[in-house]
Amino acid sequence: MKNLVILGGGYGGMRVLQRLFPNQLPEDVHVTLVDKAPYHSLKTEFYALAAGTISDQHVRVSFPEHPRLSIRYGFITNIDLENNQVHLEDNEVLHYDDLIIGLGCEDKYHGVPGAPEHTYSIQTIDASRATYQALNNLPAHATVSIVGAGLSGVELASELKESRSDLNIMLFDRGKLILSSFPERLSNYVQDWFTSNGIEIVNNANITRVEQNTLYNHDEPIKSDAIVWTAGIQPNKVVRDLNVEKDTQGRVVLTKYHNLPNNENVYVLGDCASLPHAPSAQLAEGQAEQIVQVLTARWKNEELPTELPTIKLKGVLGSLGKKHGFGLVNDRAITGRVARLLKSGILWMYKYHNG
Ligand SMILES: Cc1cc2nc3c(=O)[nH]c(=O)nc-3n(C[C@H](O)[C@H](O)[C@H](O)COP(=O)(O)OP(=O)(O)OC[C@H]3O[C@@H](n4cnc5c(N)ncnc54)[C@H](O)[C@@H]3O)c2cc1C
Repeated sequence: MKNLVILGGGYGGMRVLQRLFPNQLPEDVHVTLVDKAPYHSLKTEFYALAAGTISDQHVRVSFPEHPRLSIRYGFITNIDLENNQVHLEDNEVLHYDDLIIGLGCEDKYHGVPGAPEHTYSIQTIDASRATYQALNNLPAHATVSIVGAGLSGVELASELKESRSDLNIMLFDRGKLILSSFPERLSNYVQDWFTSNGIEIVNNANITRVEQNTLYNHDEPIKSDAIVWTAGIQPNKVVRDLNVEKDTQGRVVLTKYHNLPNNENVYVLGDCASLPHAPSAQLAEGQAEQIVQVLTARWKNEELPTELPTIKLKGVLGSLGKKHGFGLVNDRAITGRVARLLKSGILWMYKYHNG
């Protein structure tokens, strides 16, 4: 039997499993999924978990079951590409014939001193739980500073306001407008929403240092009872440690078939892969579909298509609490309740198809 090992049961890893089972997997291939968590985590909802507006159970989905799927729960420490091996924290070594690396991303602190030690995170489920506890145990009228007003910072700030209206929430962003990757109309809509909901936005911020309960913006100290970092991501450390070609963001450069340039048996998926779009769950899923297509063709010794189609993304939706939202759908900007309803609907569908 050949062993396909999938590292990470995130959005990309789950889509690979969904497409291989029940009937795309050849009889002579066994699949081993490795994840540190005993469930698939809905990372796109971690902002709500941290804010305390949804329960832990709402962001977990069981992994699928199949006679030719083994699931190994454990922490991956490194990958030995020379010897086709994956090393786990408890010294166990797994051998692979084909490998898909989908380990997601981590916070990037841009070298800001004190940021890793003194800020909370929403990048992993464990970190989001710790953030939830810290934020929800704060006394009345405490100040929370959120660094970074991309999608996750914006969603966390608005959801937290809904959860704890007594808190003073400050959102720091480098740009002159928040959500710099969105059209200006959407940034203005969200910025106005924040102003009318009592969240302070600090534009043109430059966080130079973080200490326990103090944030330094352009070296000016700002007392904060809790600080959350949502100001950047980088690929998982296991991937950062790989001695392979990477792009300027540290993501692995791949062939058009999503495998390493010198290794047809190793594929890199999702937030760890260098792709022509910003990382997202949608992109990880689209890439997963193509990896399954390539893998199944290679297993059957079929010729690969000369080009794979460009991965099409439908858009991005963000929430502003449970009633309002914003987003771009097929390049059209939408705001308000419709955007929020659409986002909830997509989550519901995702859980329905994966639950
Ligand atoms: C708050 C927030 C909101 C977001 N909203 C959206 C959105 O609306 N739309 C969208 O498309 N994207 C959104 N994203 C981005 C999206 O979540 C990621 O792009 C997506 O999760 C990437 O999928 P992935 O399969 O690459 O990795 P992940 O889904 O992160 O999965 C990685 C898996 O690897 C496992 N793992 C990691 N390290 C190890 C290790 N050392 N050992 C064992 N297992 C390990 C993890 O447990 C996890 O299961 C959001 C992200 C955040 C943080």
